Amino acid sequence: MDGSKAERTLPVGDVLEPFVHQPSVAYFSMEIALCSQMSTYSGGLGVLAGDTLRSAADLRVPMVGVTLLSKAGYFRQSLDAQGNQIEEPAWWDVSAWTQPLRAKIAIGIAGREVWIRGCLHVVTGQLGGQVPVVLLDTDLEENHPDDRTLTHFLYGGDAAYRLRQECVLGIGGARMLHALGFKITEYHMNEGHSALLVLELLRRHTYAPEDVRPGEVMYDLPRVRDLCNFTTHTPVEAGHDKFPYELVEHVLDEFRDMVMLRSLAGTDNLNMTRLALNASEYVNGVAKSHAKTSSAMFPGYHLEAVTNGVHPPTWVGPAMRMVYDREVSVWQHEPELLVNADRIADAAIWNAHMEQKRELLKNVAERTGRQLREDVITIGFARRMTGYKRPELIFSDMERLRAIAARYPVQVVMAGKAHPRDEGGKQAIVAIHRAAEALQDVLPVVFLVDYDMDLAAVMVAGVDLWLNNPLPPQEASGTSGMKAALNGVPNLSVLDGWWAEGWIEDITGWAIGEGNETDHAAALYRKLEEKVLPLYYTDRAGWIRVMKGAISRNAPFFNSHRMLRRYVTEAYIR
Ligand SMILES: *Cc1c(COP(=O)(O)O)cnc(C)c1O
Repeated sequence: MDGSKAERTLPVGDVLEPFVHQPSVAYFSMEIALCSQMSTYSGGLGVLAGDTLRSAADLRVPMVGVTLLSKAGYFRQSLDAQGNQIEEPAWWDVSAWTQPLRAKIAIGIAGREVWIRGCLHVVTGQLGGQVPVVLLDTDLEENHPDDRTLTHFLYGGDAAYRLRQECVLGIGGARMLHALGFKITEYHMNEGHSALLVLELLRRHTYAPEDVRPGEVMYDLPRVRDLCNFTTHTPVEAGHDKFPYELVEHVLDEFRDMVMLRSLAGTDNLNMTRLALNASEYVNGVAKSHAKTSSAMFPGYHLEAVTNGVHPPTWVGPAMRMVYDREVSVWQHEPELLVNADRIADAAIWNAHMEQKRELLKNVAERTGRQLREDVITIGFARRMTGYKRPELIFSDMERLRAIAARYPVQVVMAGKAHPRDEGGKQAIVAIHRAAEALQDVLPVVFLVDYDMDLAAVMVAGVDLWLNNPLPPQEASGTSGMKAALNGVPNLSVLDGWWAEGWIEDITGWAIGEGNETDHAAALYRKLEEKVLPLYYTDRAGWIRVMKGAISRNAPFFNSHRMLRRYVTEAYIR
């Protein structure tokens, strides 16, 4: 990952000067993946937020990121011999990667005043553009011991802890930007976690008392709506935060108008998604199919579809990057130009790929002591370990898999963390370990622990095939397959999320389960046996053609530059 060491030396105080006087877009996200050394993210949502800010820095879009400091991180994963996940706090070196800002603000939470300070991290773009990120920290001497840990654990604790965190993020974040002098013209809520910022804006934008007649609301909701944009990220019900009003009344000191709150956030529970939907002028899903699914979940709201993308310079491996630099010149600024990748010589693509593959295999050997083979097709599968992503699908018919592996050698590299309370996800890791053991003699399967941005970068650059088999329609978009395509690694995937848009059979990769075929395991085996493996082993030129198809047809579109340009022209400037 490009470290951001240079920005560590910027002087405190002057550092915000260039940013605060221009109109800005404030991008709020519970998690933002800034670099591997800062464990302020858990998975795809955070990586998307990070890629958005990296594109903003490249394209010089005036943006400021707001998130929690999460100084104890998500968690550090290790596994016992059976594959049982062990979780430890992932403390990271805050002083090495951020600078404390002088401003402090306070908000009321559950009857106490909670002081918040900001820590600054600056994202620097390819051409020198800079985007500040304010990471909110409550671990201050002024605060009650219970409040000092509010910004420690990402997605940790119970509902009360989570609601307090969301007060810090939404209300605290908006108030902090104000205190720092930012002139915010657009707020972008990346998922509903930050939706309480709406309440801070309502408090700020009220009608003059003499203009309010009895029975009318005092809040200038149209004004607030004009400021707000909301991106929803998951059709999975558990992904939408809901808080009982009993808890809300206990915690939410900053906004006591429960009638107004219920009218915006739902009558049964405080539903963060509802609140964001009702207070935002612009709302979108993250792929065409996801926008459609979400529209059905939330009738009455208009949802745009802005398909996610990945930040090209972050996710292209070093060898492929050299090829693009030589053959496609300014691809880092205009990834559309990767459309020309199909003109690159086969040998250049293959050699760069093999260099990245050797790097991955070296990494595997260092981490696990297992030496995988350079001449064997290597399938990659890595993402959050959770039920709907079905990480163990490829092992569902072991006899079939053995038979395939007896005809064509195959090896599999996997990685991913399960949320500490996701028993299903944890069981999947155990199941993978059992399968790996049972297949030991015929098909090497390695599981790499503690999946993070650096490991993802090495995997998507170095495997031969990227596998994804979520249960439709639950994958909102998915982004790791885009990273693979950018490296010339074809996808073999279920037609959900982005792949429904990026898939051209035999040209960019392969589909699992076309039409209404529902036995995805059988479809996966059949595609492997009939198409993928024969092509890989008997028609190298044909394989390289698919690699180039992945680059030239997927990468020009599924990148965060294109995504951000859409947000700018459709959401931020309207
Ligand atoms: C890209 C990325 C993800 C997202 O993976 P999906 O396949 O979209 O679920 C998750 N975690 C890390 C560390 C990533 O880099």
